[in-house]
Amino acid sequence: MAEAQGLILEHTRPLPAERVRLEDAAGRVLAEAARAAVDLPPFASSAMDGYALRAADTPGRLAVVGRIAAGEPAAVGLQSGQAMGISTGGAVPQGADVVIPIEYVVERDNEVAIDSPAEAGSNVRPRGGDVRAGEIVAEAGSLLTPARLGALAAAGIPEARCAQRPRAAVLPTGTELRRPGETLAAGEIYEANGLILSAQLAAAGATVELMPAVGDDEGAHRAALEQALESDVVVTSGGVSVGPHDLVRRVEAELGVEEVFWRVAVKPGKPIAFGARGETLVFGLPGNPVSALVGFELFVRPAIRALQGVPEPLPRFERGRLTGGPRRRNPERDELARARLVSSPEGAVLEPLSGQDSHMIARAAAADALVLISRGEGEVADGSLVDYLRLD
Ligand code: AMP
Ligand code: MG
Repeated sequence: MAEAQGLILEHTRPLPAERVRLEDAAGRVLAEAARAAVDLPPFASSAMDGYALRAADTPGRLAVVGRIAAGEPAAVGLQSGQAMGISTGGAVPQGADVVIPIEYVVERDNEVAIDSPAEAGSNVRPRGGDVRAGEIVAEAGSLLTPARLGALAAAGIPEARCAQRPRAAVLPTGTELRRPGETLAAGEIYEANGLILSAQLAAAGATVELMPAVGDDEGAHRAALEQALESDVVVTSGGVSVGPHDLVRRVEAELGVEEVFWRVAVKPGKPIAFGARGETLVFGLPGNPVSALVGFELFVRPAIRALQGVPEPLPRFERGRLTGGPRRRNPERDELARARLVSSPEGAVLEPLSGQDSHMIARAAAADALVLISRGEGEVADGSLVDYLRLD
């Protein structure tokens, strides 16, 4: 698995960057650090509705000489013995160093009485206290999450340089495939992988063209693959095994795809193929839907992330405790068992699901995680710590 992932990343070069308006940048990856255009906050502002005044004047009675709402320019200097009403977010006037919350103050006849000494600085948000102009708000390679988008916006950044979104083509293969809604003739099944892979690709940041499934016919494969190879990433499903109708690898070779590897010691998904034509990455996932789903997580998602310049693109395994009895290891292949993830006071607990065959997509759909049962002899004992990968 690790060797295959290494080979994929060796063939993956980050895509060029482009300017993206912030409103279109959710889920994009920054190609360069984003730096604040202004100090944040841009001026000393009030954290409370209350009165701005000088701490040195407290306790005492102060004349209320003005009112400052959010959005108004900073008032002219405040003198000793004076206070100004101020709203949350209002600019603290020059000369004031504290805001007393309105709850603690009684105003009568344009005067406020402050009973106890105030501490300078309290309820005043200093200019640049969050970040200063020119400082980094988000690093290159970081994903633009809602929080990061908000940070960039607050820091006055209208657009960001982001990696281009990888353009991906998804091509399901198999004469037996029909669309849901159509009537199945004998021997036919409904096509599932196209949707699985398109949704995974989109979630990983790619733009996706889902092509109509092609039958197991060389001409149909050639025409569809020629078109698919115009993309940055081609993901096919089916037709990469050893049967007489498995045509994907042969037709790809004819079209100039250089195969980098075929078959990985992993279960499900063993016959997976990977190659490249120029800068285009070409993944051949097996046809069983669970194999396609798992193969994507292990091998395609890291490439989609690397194309966008994510610094650590490989799947991030976490540690949790196996439950539901011991599990026999496969001597030759690392296995990714579909499991339910339950949180307990002692941490994550993983319950492998019944129905682990690679055609059982309806069973696999109940899984929150893939548990790694690494290859070897014997079994993994119930209650052992195992690595797992979240499925979101
Ligand atoms: P293959 O890898 O082409 O030999 O296909 C392996 C198994 O997966 C066969 O039972 C196929 O019918 C099934 N299969 C292939 N492609 C799909 C698909 N797109 N959706 C659902 N099942 C598929
Ligand atoms: Mg097939």
